[in-house]
Amino acid sequence: MTSTVAAFHKRSIEDKEGFWAEQAQHIEWFAPPEKILDFSNPPFARWYVGGKTNLCHNAVDRHLATRGDQKALVYISTETKQERIYSYKELHQEVQAMAAILKSLGVKRGDRVLVYMPMIAEAIFAMLACARIGAIHSVVFGGFAAPSLAARIDDATPVVMISADAGMRNGKEVPYKHLVDEACRLAQKPPAKVLLINRGLAAMSRVDGRDVDYTELRKQHLGASVPCEQMLATDPSYILYTSGTTGKPKGVQRDTGGYAVALAASMKHIFDCKPGEVFFCTSDIGWVVGHSYIVYGPLINGSTTIVYEGMPTVPDPAVWWSIVERFQASTMFSSPTAARVLKKQDPKYMTQHNTSCLRRLFLAGEPLDEPTAKWISDALGGARIIDNYWQTETGWPIMSAQHGVEDTPTKFGSPSFAVYGYDLRLYHESTFEEVGADEKGMLCAVPPLPPGCLQTVWGDDERFLKTYFTAIPGKKIYSTFDYATRDQDGYYFILGRTDDVINVAGHRLGTREIEEAIQVHTNVAEVAVVGVADALKGQVPLAFCVLKNLDPIKSAEGRMAEEKAIMATVDKELGAIARPSRVHFVTMLPKTRSGKLLRRSMQALAEGRDSGDLTTLEDPTALEQIKSALKS
Ligand code: ATP
Ligand code: MG
Repeated sequence: MTSTVAAFHKRSIEDKEGFWAEQAQHIEWFAPPEKILDFSNPPFARWYVGGKTNLCHNAVDRHLATRGDQKALVYISTETKQERIYSYKELHQEVQAMAAILKSLGVKRGDRVLVYMPMIAEAIFAMLACARIGAIHSVVFGGFAAPSLAARIDDATPVVMISADAGMRNGKEVPYKHLVDEACRLAQKPPAKVLLINRGLAAMSRVDGRDVDYTELRKQHLGASVPCEQMLATDPSYILYTSGTTGKPKGVQRDTGGYAVALAASMKHIFDCKPGEVFFCTSDIGWVVGHSYIVYGPLINGSTTIVYEGMPTVPDPAVWWSIVERFQASTMFSSPTAARVLKKQDPKYMTQHNTSCLRRLFLAGEPLDEPTAKWISDALGGARIIDNYWQTETGWPIMSAQHGVEDTPTKFGSPSFAVYGYDLRLYHESTFEEVGADEKGMLCAVPPLPPGCLQTVWGDDERFLKTYFTAIPGKKIYSTFDYATRDQDGYYFILGRTDDVINVAGHRLGTREIEEAIQVHTNVAEVAVVGVADALKGQVPLAFCVLKNLDPIKSAEGRMAEEKAIMATVDKELGAIARPSRVHFVTMLPKTRSGKLLRRSMQALAEGRDSGDLTTLEDPTALEQIKSALKS
């Protein structure tokens, strides 16, 4: 790590209170904190005790005087071919109308409101309106099936649910209302009221006494003035369930003041995005990236946020770059999965637009393999690609380059350095000793976690402690459940999840390492490797590959030759021990709705077991392909 970033980080750990008192200046307070950190009950951390603030005030009201007419939110749907632009003044109006509606439906400070919505501007009004009146929102990714929705209803017990008639995906309506009805039937404690936004996409039946119409209520409440509640910094602002890649989702509970400060500071130090600039995050509000970097981060920063509903490839694979050019976005945030989707398209789409305004493209959520990182960096003619690593639990990056602090060089395959505030350690998985440079360890963080990270698991302090703080015996240390190494220069490399390790004849191999090796083969677009039980070796790796060009596998001989070539690549990159026992070719891989590989399901199928909890699966046909590939 170079000196400036290192010094910044060091200070954040050694003088936590001083450091975070300074960062607190990036937001507005109704009353300043009495104490920066209360860590009297570890590992629970209470940041900015006694301070009073409001997320919505910081995201909207605060900017009215200086940038009231500036674009706050640009809504673009390539699904409904709609585009709407809201200035900060207009956003203020809409959020107040929504807040008045929620109040009229009986929502009070501390109540939960479940937001089950497509990517439309009203979803953001709803989140901000909750923050405004001190209600706790719980956004559930639109399109989750009724049982998943019901489980989240029963966990969060909302008084009101906000939904819409339908989402749209690739030109097709995805009706929501029947899912809402069924979830309310399945739930033990359904919400008293359901506020429905009618986009005119799908017919909706109404449940008398429960369902209310947004358009009607908006007419009544537009022009309302609803002041921001003075929330304690330590009051919960929202509940968000983790992606469910490894199992039952956990309800991450976030505070108010710490989160506001963490996001404001990250916009400056990590994203280096200036107030007034345009931030384009392609995630969905149903995920943590959407919460932090579609909604709160850019708005708290006084930037313009772009809210995009649609595919990255429709009407054509240049759609994102046309948006970048038209709105002069300086900063973009997306996922490696999306980058790999674009990599499969004709490269001409990458250069049709002038994207020279784009300083940086941040990618997170999954490992960013070196070939993809190099490819997209070249294709964008020099925009810097910033791999950053974090979790729903933390709410903002744990590792990233921090160009607002110092310009540091990138190493492909690495999310660079520990971010200020995170006291990261790597522990050997069996001795639990800290490992040295370039040695693999379990990635952990010494509490207190910095502001913005989860306060607890909603309604379950015990689960919070048991889940996150028991991996290292005898120490209450936060575990990320990911493996990593750190090199001499302080750059980290994420090796995969602790449950994605396979044991081949006593050799422990990360599935990610094998995937990276396979990616070296130039015809591979995407690959998933899982470990399958083997009587002789314990486990053997099995690969599922998506190819860029299908010509080589059109004949049986061709397929065998391609499989051999991929195996030879692994032999060369990693050694024969890591060679997959088989390479199956499919046209898509099973992923969660947030774009993460569902390795546990592929593995289960490969071992002849049931595929397990599939509520977060994006496209069921992907699993069907795995099944038929396995039969061949
Ligand atoms: P669940 O915890 O419910 O199983 P999840 O871990 O997929 O789901 P998220 O919080 O959305 O839920 O994802 C965080 C995880 O994603 C990290 O722990 C890590 O495994 C992976 N990840 C995120 N960013 C990166 C990155 N830049 N490089 C490698 N892996 C990453
Ligand atoms: Mg996780």
